[in-house]
Amino acid sequence: MGGRTTGPLTLPPGSLEVLRRLAAEASPREACGLLFGEALDVTEVTSIRNVADGRSEFVMDPEELFVVLSSREDVLGSWHSHPRSTADLSEADLTGPPRGWVQVVVGTNGVAGYAATDHTVLTVVERP
Ligand SMILES: [Zn+2]
Repeated sequence: MGGRTTGPLTLPPGSLEVLRRLAAEASPREACGLLFGEALDVTEVTSIRNVADGRSEFVMDPEELFVVLSSREDVLGSWHSHPRSTADLSEADLTGPPRGWVQVVVGTNGVAGYAATDHTVLTVVERP
C-alpha cells in the first residue's frame, strides 16, 4: 500500500468480519471470492472455492465462477486473502484479474482495496 489513496470503497455492514473469518478458515491457503455492486459501493460479498495447487496464489473454481458470471450482471470485482503477507498487490494480482475489476485483499496488516483501472489504493470502509 502507499502512494495515492482514494475511495472509499464501501462494504455492507459486517463484511470485514466475514472476510477476515473466511481468510482465517482458508489459511494457510488463500481465500477468494467475488464482490457485487456498483461503482465503489459493494452490495454483496461471496466466497468461491480456491482450486489452486500452491499456497501463495488463488484460482477460483471455474465451474462456480461460470455459474455466477453467467447469472449476474453486477460483478464489481474480486477479493482474496494473503495469509502470510501484507495486503499489497502481488505481481500476479496486478495481471491476473480481469481489467475493470476492483480488488480487495485481506492481508496480515489489514484490508486494502484497489481501483479497477489503475490499481490506486482505495480505503475500505463498512457502511453503517
Ligand atoms: Zn494476492
